[in-house]
Amino acid sequence: MHAPIIKHIRAFTVFGGGADYHDQGADHWIDDHIATPMSRYPAYRQSRQSFGINVLGTLVVELETDTGVKGFAVTTGGEPAAYIVEKHLARFVEGRRVDEIELIWDQMFNATLYYGRRGLVINAISGVDLALWDLLGQVRQLPVHALIGGAVRDEQPFYATGARPDLAKQMGFIGGKLAFRHNPLQGTPGIRTEMERLGQMRDAVGPDFWLMFDCWMSMTVDYAHQVAVAAAEYDLKWIEECLPPDDYWGYAALRKKLPPKMLLTTGEHEATRWGFRMLLEMGCCDFIQPDVGWCGGLTELLKISALADAHNTMVIPHGSSVYSYHFVMTRQNSPFAEFLMMAPKADNVVPMFSPMLLDEPVPQNGLLHISALDKPGFGVRLSPDLQLHRPYER
Ligand SMILES: [Mg+2]
Repeated sequence: MHAPIIKHIRAFTVFGGGADYHDQGADHWIDDHIATPMSRYPAYRQSRQSFGINVLGTLVVELETDTGVKGFAVTTGGEPAAYIVEKHLARFVEGRRVDEIELIWDQMFNATLYYGRRGLVINAISGVDLALWDLLGQVRQLPVHALIGGAVRDEQPFYATGARPDLAKQMGFIGGKLAFRHNPLQGTPGIRTEMERLGQMRDAVGPDFWLMFDCWMSMTVDYAHQVAVAAAEYDLKWIEECLPPDDYWGYAALRKKLPPKMLLTTGEHEATRWGFRMLLEMGCCDFIQPDVGWCGGLTELLKISALADAHNTMVIPHGSSVYSYHFVMTRQNSPFAEFLMMAPKADNVVPMFSPMLLDEPVPQNGLLHISALDKPGFGVRLSPDLQLHRPYER
C-alpha cells in the first residue's frame, strides 16, 4: 500500500505553560514550597523555579508529508531538544514513510546511545515519536487509540493532582494527590505539619476517597519510612517518587517495610524499557508511572506496558494529557489515570497543557468518555496564538 513520505520535520520552542507545565506565574500551587532534591539548600526551598525547573520550556515537533498532511506533538526540552531534533534526529525521519514508526524509533535511539539513553535526548525522541503517531492518525483519519489496538473501556476514571483534594472530590475525581512540602532536614516537625494537612484533608473527604503524597525525589529511605508510618493513620493510598530515580535499591528496601496496604509508586523520571525493567524486576514499586513525553514516546510506552503486564503491575502514566489518554483507554492494566490540576488554586478543571492546545479534552465529573477522543491523531491543534520560535531552522 502507498503511504505518504515525511518531507519535513521542524522543532519549535515556546515558553509559558503548555507542555512545560512547571513554567507558571507566581502563586501557582505547583511552585509553592514543594519538596525537591534541591530542598536541602534553603535558598532553593520555596520555589522550584528558583533552581530552574522551567529553564528548558516546551518543545513542539511538527511533521509534514509530501502530500501536505501535518502532525505534531508537544513535550518538554525546549531549545536543546530542538537542536537534537533538527541536527541529529531529522535524518532518520525525513524521507521515511509515515508508517515506519518502529524503524525510526530504533534508529533515533541507537544513533544517540553514545550520549543519550535517558533525560533530554529521550524527551526529544519522545516528542518526535508522538508527532509520528499524530501524523499517522491524520493520514489514516483515525484516532491514535484506534491505531494501537482500540479502547477497552468507554470511560476512564481519573484522580487529581493538586493542592485541593477536597475540591477534587466535589469535582468527581476518585482521589487527590498532594505535593509533600518538607524535606528530611526538616525532620519530625516537618512530618507533623504534613500530617496536620493530611488529617484535615481526610476529615474533609471522608474515609473512602483516595489521598496520596507526591514527594518528587526529595527523601531518604529513612525519612520516607517515617512519613509512611505516620500517614498510615490517615489511610494514605500511596507514596510517590520519594527517592531519587537512580536509587532502585532504596525503593526495593522501602517497599518491603511500608505499612500494610500502602503502595509505593514511581517512574515519571524513568525512561525506556530498560529503565522500567529495573523497577519491575527489582520490586521497586507497586505500579509504574511513566510519562509518555519523557520515557521514549508511545512506541516505547507500549513495550514498557507489556513488560509491566507480565509482572502483574499497573501502568498509571504521569500527566501528559491527550498523549496519555489515548494510551490508557487501550490498556487493561491502566484502569485509572492522572489529571494534573493546572488552575493556580487547583479549584477548577482546565486542560492540562492550557493554553497551548485547542480541542484538548478534560474529564467530566472525573471521567473521560471515549467519544472525547474520536478525532484523527491525538485530536488536538496548536493554538494559533502561540509564539513559536524555530531556533535551528534548516
Ligand atoms: Mg509525581
